[in-house]
Amino acid sequence: MAGFDWFWNALGGKSGRNQKRSLAIVDRAQAASADLSRLDDAALAARARELAASGSLSDPGEFLAILGVASERRLGLSPFPVQSQAVLRLLEGDVVHMATGEGKTLVGAMAATGFALMGKTVHSITVNDYLATRDAEWMRPLVEFFGLSVAAVSEGMDSVARRQAYACDIVYAPVSEIGFDVLRDQLVTRRGEAVQHGADVAIVDEADSVLVDEALVPLVLAGNQPGRAPRGKITDLVRRLKENEDYTVDDDRRNVYLTDKGAHKLETALGVGSLYDDEHVGTTLVQVNLALHAHALLIRDVHYIVRDGRVALIDASRGRVAELQRWPDGLQAAVEAKEGLAVTEGGRILDTITLQALMGRYPMVCGMTGTAVEATDQLRTFYDLRVSVIERNKPLRRFDEQDRIYATMAEKNRAIIEEITEINALGRPVLVGTHDVAESEELAGALRERDIEVSVLNAKNDAEEARIIAEAGDIGRVTVSTQMAGRGTDIRLGGADEADHGAVVDLGGLAVIGTARHRSQRLDNQLRGRAGRQGDPGLSLFFVSLDDDVVVSGGSGEEVSAQPDATGLIDSGRIRDWVEHCQRVTEGQLLEVHSQTWKYNRLLADQRVIIDERRARLLDTDQAWRELADREPARAAELDALDESTRVQAARDIMLYHLDFNWAEHLALMDDVRESIHLRAIARETPIDEYHRIAVREFKDLAQRAFNDAVATFRDVTIDADGAHLDEEGLSRPSATWTYMVSDNPLAGGGNSVISGIGNIFR
Ligand code: ADP
Repeated sequence: MAGFDWFWNALGGKSGRNQKRSLAIVDRAQAASADLSRLDDAALAARARELAASGSLSDPGEFLAILGVASERRLGLSPFPVQSQAVLRLLEGDVVHMATGEGKTLVGAMAATGFALMGKTVHSITVNDYLATRDAEWMRPLVEFFGLSVAAVSEGMDSVARRQAYACDIVYAPVSEIGFDVLRDQLVTRRGEAVQHGADVAIVDEADSVLVDEALVPLVLAGNQPGRAPRGKITDLVRRLKENEDYTVDDDRRNVYLTDKGAHKLETALGVGSLYDDEHVGTTLVQVNLALHAHALLIRDVHYIVRDGRVALIDASRGRVAELQRWPDGLQAAVEAKEGLAVTEGGRILDTITLQALMGRYPMVCGMTGTAVEATDQLRTFYDLRVSVIERNKPLRRFDEQDRIYATMAEKNRAIIEEITEINALGRPVLVGTHDVAESEELAGALRERDIEVSVLNAKNDAEEARIIAEAGDIGRVTVSTQMAGRGTDIRLGGADEADHGAVVDLGGLAVIGTARHRSQRLDNQLRGRAGRQGDPGLSLFFVSLDDDVVVSGGSGEEVSAQPDATGLIDSGRIRDWVEHCQRVTEGQLLEVHSQTWKYNRLLADQRVIIDERRARLLDTDQAWRELADREPARAAELDALDESTRVQAARDIMLYHLDFNWAEHLALMDDVRESIHLRAIARETPIDEYHRIAVREFKDLAQRAFNDAVATFRDVTIDADGAHLDEEGLSRPSATWTYMVSDNPLAGGGNSVISGIGNIFR
């Protein structure tokens, strides 16, 4: 694979018409620059506004030229023609394929400014907090040149600061923060309490990470309301079930299934007809599943410990007690019941949204990444987005070496350490990409035994990581990093200050080593892309063993015969083809998982839109009062003495409470249905159709139920000058909520639901 240029060119040909037009506009921009340079700042800004006044661009070439002159004046960066071309493609709503180091930050900011000049509000979505703040500050002078405003949103900000930030024309924020704000805003009962109001455009940096790799990661908002614990009886019954007889566990011990015999035992003991009947699927069967999961899959002192009468989770990747983490929803309670502990309240999931559904809220999405071409299919299928390939400013001088394939993992690991040692001995910087934190630590340990100094990045502190990765191109450096760690930071040869640039160029530039092929070639290319920025020399090299995850699962157990040499190295074209084949298989599997999961999520995403609309109407009008007064005129008459705004707000609080409550119940139910639907497949129903049938039916009831509940509350609850006393009826909203991302990311390899981080209790 000698670079990707041939591939790009081939693809570039496809969108050739766009390319030609863009190039003509960029030429026009360059021609216009000289004249425009004579204008002062105010005149330039005014001219840009004039060109964008109609909401589209009357002369895109001149407009680009003005953005360029502003960038030069305020940031000292005069955009390369390829950058202007990328800005244009973003303004037209494409995902641009631009290699690392080509200056995507400036491109994104110019496009954001362009959109804002057209009167659109923009969310610039970054990979993490650190980059949001850095980019907003870095690009601020450009934005302010045109009298526009820009801010960043980051984790530690309170609601006042967030509201202020979101009021700006351009907001830089990590996708998780935006999503959490969307979820929290779904709970407000007065419009003024919301921090966000959506945006017209999302510009997504590292677009394939957010739009593809993490698309299915749910953002979760939870609150301290009672969870649904399995009843004691179910826990006791499940405890008596026998593995392989009453239930079976799959090989990797991730899933447990009740056998017919087990189900029958429980049905008899509980006195129910069939656990798989509609009436039990969302209730008893869920509790059985939770209890069974707790009983069969979670092992005390491996997955959790019991301390001070509490269950504490052990974080598998770090081997430490994870203080703030809980299992989702009822599982925590199920484990507590299993251990005979007091079942705690809390952990009620109030709302969730996947990143894909979140991105679907924007009328326009565009973005940039070094690996867009490889994600063309997914971007088109899931977002209806097109990819535009932008040429490099300077030709690629990175050498992509053939994979080195070993028979066994042990031989491969030995070879990796040898290779790093050899490269390091010359002083040439090495960046090693691993697949998880544990592997990084192990490798670093082995290298340190050889007296090699190693920096390890493990996605704990973004700012610190950015500092380390910025130095990864300096002489003698060895940096070990997982895939995502330190993304978005430029690796300059010879260190961040480029003091030893020449010396590192003479050594051949940065060497990037992958310890195994990823499950998709796109992820391999993300890693390769860290070397060879802006025409620098560089090397990329992947090691593979026939024991690797990709080979094993992509080859699905097929035997291959190979003749390794004494070190285990297999130098065979046939085996290299085989590895490529295995990777294509795993790519296909990932795409299939994505499509399938999206099929499940999509319906809920559509239903959420309906809930959102209803909620907005209740918030922004007096509809809640009108509907309730209509239904209960006598009660409404009693409240005549109260002033209008109090009455209206009380009705609103009542309606919203029940709407939100029922929506949360709906999500929880559908989650449970999804968990247990494979069991119903046994009853010969197509799971997805069955899921849809239940979702549609339940959703229909939801609106009516929410309204009926609200009417009942309206009748009974005390309403006075202080409003509706919902708490007296046990209808209080959670006093604390917290947010987290569930990294259920099949690309990360684990594929298991683990709560990866937990936000602060907010507000
Ligand atoms: P990417 O995100 O594409 O990897 P960055 O946005 O981090 O790249 O930019 C890489 C480096 O290139 C930055 O240090 C930036 O200052 C520099 N750069 C970007 N555009 C230009 C330009 N037009 N002229 C000179 N330097 C530039």
